[in-house]
Amino acid sequence: MLKLFNTLSKKIEKFQPIKDKRVSIYSCGPTVYDYVHIGNLRTYLFNDILRRVLIYDGYKVKQVMNITDVGHLTDDADSGVDKLEKGAEREKKTVWDVAKFYEKEFLNDIRALNILMPDKLPHPTDHIKQQIKIIETLVKINFAYDAKEAVYFDVSKFPDYTKLSGQKLKDKKQAARTEVVKDLSKKNPADFALWFKLTGKFADHSMHWPSPWGEGFPGWHIECSAMSTEYLGQPFDIHTGGVDLIMPHHSNEIAQSQSASGKPLANYWLHGEHLLIKSGKPGHLDGEPRRMAKSENNFIRLKDIVDKGFSPLAFRYLVLGAHYQTKLNFSWESLRAAQNSLDHLLDLISELKGSPGKFMCADYAKAFDREINNNLDTARALSLTWRLLKKPNPDKLKISTIKKFDKVFGLDLLKGALIRKKIPNKIKELAKTRERLRKQKEFGKADDARAELEKLGYEINDTPEGPVVKKK
Ligand code: AMP
Ligand code: ZN
Repeated sequence: MLKLFNTLSKKIEKFQPIKDKRVSIYSCGPTVYDYVHIGNLRTYLFNDILRRVLIYDGYKVKQVMNITDVGHLTDDADSGVDKLEKGAEREKKTVWDVAKFYEKEFLNDIRALNILMPDKLPHPTDHIKQQIKIIETLVKINFAYDAKEAVYFDVSKFPDYTKLSGQKLKDKKQAARTEVVKDLSKKNPADFALWFKLTGKFADHSMHWPSPWGEGFPGWHIECSAMSTEYLGQPFDIHTGGVDLIMPHHSNEIAQSQSASGKPLANYWLHGEHLLIKSGKPGHLDGEPRRMAKSENNFIRLKDIVDKGFSPLAFRYLVLGAHYQTKLNFSWESLRAAQNSLDHLLDLISELKGSPGKFMCADYAKAFDREINNNLDTARALSLTWRLLKKPNPDKLKISTIKKFDKVFGLDLLKGALIRKKIPNKIKELAKTRERLRKQKEFGKADDARAELEKLGYEINDTPEGPVVKKK
């Protein structure tokens, strides 16, 4: 029985889909004006684990993820500029070209991380009609009003506005009040834009469409309301994103969708915690890890990781090792440790004899079931895998069990083990000799053995679980 933490109730709940054995998921996706960073990728990995666990449990899953190509401003409170326009100006390209390029890069990154491709990746620019329709309804029922610079949602009309965030509306109003750029035609500072008009700072906005309120473009939040219900209906089962989206993005989605249709938008709201990093940037000198973010200029891309010789799946392993609701501090040392552990795991698997069959180590399969269904506890599921490998069970059963586990982990454990098996015996022997020499405290000779290995194109890393050899 799957249990998930629902941000809406702030409790772990038993998961009950709307339709038996079918699950609909909407995951907020990237704004394609720049590369995604490994913080964003942590959230997409969490989406992927959720999806894989549901599939493991026998559900048929339909997952939709938006690719935002218009309307996401550089600031959540309707000030700032459209991120896509900013990208186009930076690169002297059209917004369309910028969006196309970064979407492709994003898809490459998620493929490299073995993230299952969502069933649909819709773009708001292809769903303008659906967005306008919701706004029209909201205007008609007086939940939205047509002001000088935009059509705004009137937050005072929706008493449940702070239910998801648990915030006080007063705090939100105060935060909004500190914004430098404000549209004075807003009734309340907390009201948010549904449709921006081509006026004021947006007079030259390059993307625009006709609407009942004149030429303009949609606000960021309305796209997710329109595209989720277009493909999944309303309500659908699960909505996901990073914790920063709880307020305002997801609170706004709920407000506009529920007001327009009288139905909840989604039954379960799941949020992944952030990836943090320490940096020596000005203003960050306290040494405290901070959220990885483009605006903090402390971000690392998947490519940076690969350029340093790590495999993308080592990052996946690192992420699986922490529960999705805990903050995760990224450091190169922790990635190194994850790479070593993954390599060592693959080495242990490569020593198993036989091929996967029908039968499994039943007690471990049962324990695995329990861990992953307990609010997606991948960290405990991973340590279970280590324990399984150390047990004296028949190899064939272990291989079959690991094959099953890997449907959730997505670490290519059997494929990776096969590749590592190809390390020649001569190299493995040399590594063993070095280890023996080290234990005998013959450090000079041990270093010579390491140098010999390196000359032959292999490197050796010492991990808490023992030395790991790999091709350089
Ligand atoms: P954005 O492009 O800022 O809309 O972010 C895309 C996704 O990444 C959203 O679900 C965010 O919540 C998530 N996200 C942003 N920064 C981080 C971070 N440092 N760690 C984890 N997830 C993040
Ligand atoms: Zn969204």
